[in-house]
Amino acid sequence: MSASLSRTDLSPSPLSQSSSSSSSRSSHLKRSPLDKRQLTNILPAPADIENLRNKYFDILRYLDARVSITLWHQLEPFLENVYSKTQPRNGRIYYHCRWSKEHKSELAIRDRKRLGASQKTALHCPVTSLVAVIEEGYIRFEFPKKKPEEWPEHNHSLDWCDRQKINKAVRDALFQEVVKGYEVASILKMFTGEWQKDNRIHLERCGGKHLSLKHIHNVGRDFRKQNKSKKRYGNQEEWEQQLATALRFLQQEESWFYRQISAIRNLDSEQSNALVFAERDRIKTLCRRGYLTLMDSTHCTNKLGWFLFTLVVRDEQGSYIPCAHFLTDNEDGDIIAAALKVVKEWTGGTAGWRLRWMLTDDSAAEQRGVRLAFDNEDECVGHLLCTKHSGNTLDRNLSGPNKKEARKHMYTAMYTRKTRIGCQDSVQQAIDSLPSEKDKAYLRNNWYNSLDSWAMCVRSHSCILLQVSIFPFLVEAEISKV
Ligand SMILES: [Zn+2]
Repeated sequence: MSASLSRTDLSPSPLSQSSSSSSSRSSHLKRSPLDKRQLTNILPAPADIENLRNKYFDILRYLDARVSITLWHQLEPFLENVYSKTQPRNGRIYYHCRWSKEHKSELAIRDRKRLGASQKTALHCPVTSLVAVIEEGYIRFEFPKKKPEEWPEHNHSLDWCDRQKINKAVRDALFQEVVKGYEVASILKMFTGEWQKDNRIHLERCGGKHLSLKHIHNVGRDFRKQNKSKKRYGNQEEWEQQLATALRFLQQEESWFYRQISAIRNLDSEQSNALVFAERDRIKTLCRRGYLTLMDSTHCTNKLGWFLFTLVVRDEQGSYIPCAHFLTDNEDGDIIAAALKVVKEWTGGTAGWRLRWMLTDDSAAEQRGVRLAFDNEDECVGHLLCTKHSGNTLDRNLSGPNKKEARKHMYTAMYTRKTRIGCQDSVQQAIDSLPSEKDKAYLRNNWYNSLDSWAMCVRSHSCILLQVSIFPFLVEAEISKV
């Protein structure tokens, strides 16, 4: 018991070691909306897209080929990584292979080298011109000023183009998902068929065989460049205006506590902003049942992209009750602490909200926020980590068949072992079973010394801690609907 209270130092929790706090939180939150998605809906393509791409890549070999304007407009984005075009003139559209450009000036070549352009990008493909002649709703293609038998062929394959550049159709589909705020890793999984095998097949047919995280990051970067004010897609107003509207609404409602706050971030001295709000009756529930409080933040609940934090308790009937909320533009410990202090003040201080245990997921910021907000209490507030998130972190960091044994021991340590010594024993067994020194060190440094935050055995003194070991997903689902 007493050992669990000493965890107020800055030693990393097992979970904050993971790539980032928000990524794992969102992985379970966002996985559900994406894992059932059919790529054919997100990236609609003409039937037989694979053959059409191959055919129109090599269109100069099909002398009499004609295509309806409608179909060509659908196809064009799928071949955008092959052809660039100029404005149509006199019923003609002028294309050229984008890998045909010659770099005339020496300076340009030097610049390209400096910028790290590969030699392959200066490919001098002979398809320097391709004219699309529009006739009666149809398009046919020709190479100007040459007889059909002299028409050139690309000196590269279509697959090579796909490797160099992701076509516009796929990029647009990615963009749609990025602006919704989904994580790049989840988007990649969805596109490459992690959850739906058909998605991978469709993606390859559409020319996205070589899609990687980097491409999605680039799409995201372009989006952020255009949206520097952190506005989400479809958002019209600045955050100050939206906050004012929210405050006006809360003013009319007598049953709400609310306050606008800000805090200076320790990390970089930037200001974070937040709106804290809670219904008066719910604050009473927090006073009555706040011994164990759960806190989690949810993404994608508003157009500003602010995070919605919710404090949840379990009432006498075993129902989870959201008691207080705050919306923040950043997820740092300083603003979280400031918001928690406001909620504490509304409950009448420590006499009101008798917080003894806080359960959160693996966010280092949340842990820091709780520590800052409750460091003056007579009795320390213990910090518990959601076992579901802990398990996810383990699975991620100890993935693969040769670490199966270690995972088994770690799950035994987390759920089954009844004593601290037994639990430590299981962690030791897990360490011993690992072949690599790096993995051994990971368990030793991040798990062995922080049993108090993740092992069930140290929670056995209070029934409620054993019953409530994960953030209730139903509550989470409800909150995200709001
Ligand atoms: Zn070419």
